[in-house]
Amino acid sequence: MKLTISIVAAITAASLLIVFPVSPAIAYPAVKRQTEATKEQAAAAEPDPLPARRGLYEKLSLFTEIPWYWIAAVDQYERSMSKVKPKTRPMLGSTVGVFIDQERWAGLLNPNLEDSSPLSIRFFNGIGRDGDGNGHAERTSDVDLLYSLVSRIAAYGSTDDDFAIGLWEYYQNNRSVQRIQQFARIYAAFGKLDLFEHAFPVPVGTHYAYNSTWGTGRSWGGRRTHEGTDIFANHGLPVRSTCYGIVEVKGWNPYGGWRIGIRDLNNFYHYYAHLSGYDKSVNIGDVVKPGQVVGWVGSSGYGKPGTQGKFPPHLHYGVYSDRGLIEWSFDPYPMLRRWEQAERKRIRSGK
Ligand SMILES: [Zn+2]
Repeated sequence: MKLTISIVAAITAASLLIVFPVSPAIAYPAVKRQTEATKEQAAAAEPDPLPARRGLYEKLSLFTEIPWYWIAAVDQYERSMSKVKPKTRPMLGSTVGVFIDQERWAGLLNPNLEDSSPLSIRFFNGIGRDGDGNGHAERTSDVDLLYSLVSRIAAYGSTDDDFAIGLWEYYQNNRSVQRIQQFARIYAAFGKLDLFEHAFPVPVGTHYAYNSTWGTGRSWGGRRTHEGTDIFANHGLPVRSTCYGIVEVKGWNPYGGWRIGIRDLNNFYHYYAHLSGYDKSVNIGDVVKPGQVVGWVGSSGYGKPGTQGKFPPHLHYGVYSDRGLIEWSFDPYPMLRRWEQAERKRIRSGK
């Protein structure tokens, strides 16, 4: 590296300017990966990671001029990918969800993949940066991870359009860009990170019935398995968003009839089908919150637009997990039971 010493000195001076100060005394609470079943008990025992994350996003935002909700959206998208691919995307930091592999971090031609020197990483065109100012670009540091990713994506500029270009360059995948744009809109609309509350899809206390029917066969449209839970209710009962999210799809589908699809911050797609109609105020790209009415129970579907009454009125509710390039349906029944119980409790306590 002797030949590059003068370059190195120049870069050192420059890189000191781009390092933003974060007190080493700030501890970011550890977030462990949990199974769905233990999540709630664990959530009660562990410190809330959101305030520390918010602080980190705001510091990075001040420094990079990228709005905090873009930074939050990138981090949350990365976290959602790590949750579905825990083996290939192990948690690197404590609270951020960002995963960057060694080659990308250190630079493809870097002979030392464990490299943490900001100067030689730059020399080999790696992504790794020293965000916390300790002189090392560490793949285990929350600040370094998020700062490295955000500055790479922000290389095209800090407007929404520039950022979208940066996202495309980094992920090379339109779905990733769309997800992060959706997440950013949700965060910007509500102005907070704590957006994981849920509601039951129809008003609790009204007449409805449902069973665990995920995976059973069904007849119309050839052999398909049932990817959801049917909630039987009278025509016209309100259908509500179960989550904070953004409307991704709305309109006719031969199977689902009038249906609406809502994306949440866990990167789950919530699918509500066979509606009799939509709430007028809800359109594609709109942000919704749990309990907000999006439409009404009906019996639309199984034919041309407008077909109705081929089966008893019910809400078909499905949830799909985005795994990057494909989406997997999973059984919403256990979640529905939990949300229903939680709502009953809320009603009883008068909240
Ligand atoms: Zn169904």
